[in-house]
Amino acid sequence: MELIIAGGVGEHGRNCFYVRGETTLFLVDCGKMADTPEDPYPRLTREQIGGLDAVFLTHSHADHTGSLPWLYENGFHGKLIATAETLDQLPFPVEESRVLEDICPGGTGNFGDLSIAWGRAGHCVGSVWYRFAENGKSIFFSGDYTEDTQVYACDPIRNQHADLAVLDCAYGREEMSYEAACDRLIQETETLLSDHKLLLFPVPKYGRGQEILKLFSDRLSGVSYYADALFLRNLAKQDAGGFWYRPVKISTSVCPYNGQTQGIVFVSDPQLRGEAARNAARQVLSLGGGAVMTGTLEKGSYSESLFRQGKMTLLRYPVHLNHGQFAQLKEENDFRQTIPYHSREFSAKREILF
Ligand SMILES: [Zn+2]
Ligand SMILES: [Zn+2]
Repeated sequence: MELIIAGGVGEHGRNCFYVRGETTLFLVDCGKMADTPEDPYPRLTREQIGGLDAVFLTHSHADHTGSLPWLYENGFHGKLIATAETLDQLPFPVEESRVLEDICPGGTGNFGDLSIAWGRAGHCVGSVWYRFAENGKSIFFSGDYTEDTQVYACDPIRNQHADLAVLDCAYGREEMSYEAACDRLIQETETLLSDHKLLLFPVPKYGRGQEILKLFSDRLSGVSYYADALFLRNLAKQDAGGFWYRPVKISTSVCPYNGQTQGIVFVSDPQLRGEAARNAARQVLSLGGGAVMTGTLEKGSYSESLFRQGKMTLLRYPVHLNHGQFAQLKEENDFRQTIPYHSREFSAKREILF
């Protein structure tokens, strides 16, 4: 087998891995770079794209899926394979999609000569890791991965064998533990709340928003919570439970935001790119409120401009691995070679035969 890194190693964004098996040519993810509008797409030729049998998605986030419309425009006519939840979350139309749970019920199955195993990755609803094997060779992808979760279920990656493994290392050499990051988020949020009374938390459409709400509802007292319609829909799904969730309840009520002056407001738009989210941000700030970014700022976004003006505080809620956790994952599995992805701090050879 051969891996060609089309994006996502030595950079943050456009995660895309081209795998040439003996009989199957496929991609894992097809992300788009948010920070470089002049060069946002994976490094793939039209010939490589036209020959693809399939694209497997680890989850719906744009840094893993945002270049799919471009892929179709450039001649992709293979199958798009992802969990039902991930396919549902994509904000654009797709062709020839297949539901992973149908191809691989119970976590294993085949696509042509390719054997597939997958598990839940803990990163958001629908997010998975993959192991692919063909003719005695194997490659593993963690996808965006975390075992430290409040509400999302994770199937820990243990005792897996692969000739090559591409593993989440998004937080690079930053070594803060999950517990320490949560403690810091709680303490700083308490301080900001006593200063501002009102705080805006822009969060992804699918992902850490419900995680943060669960953490806050367990550890902060006397706080009112508000959110937009998508957040409330996701919360209702979490409350109903099921395969993608840990069996936990969030014991607080959350209401639509209508200009209240005290509490925490979640908006499902991390970079505040949409008009509705920007309006909510302006309203909160005009009432003396503050704003908190719990993920990564994208260059040129409204969130980044608020940060530059000193109106937004950065407080990470971890949903990826750092290098220490990446190394731990190597220890707990049998991977002959590993590649840390999703970080500017680590690079790798672009083409790897194994
Ligand atoms: Zn992600
Ligand atoms: Zn990602």
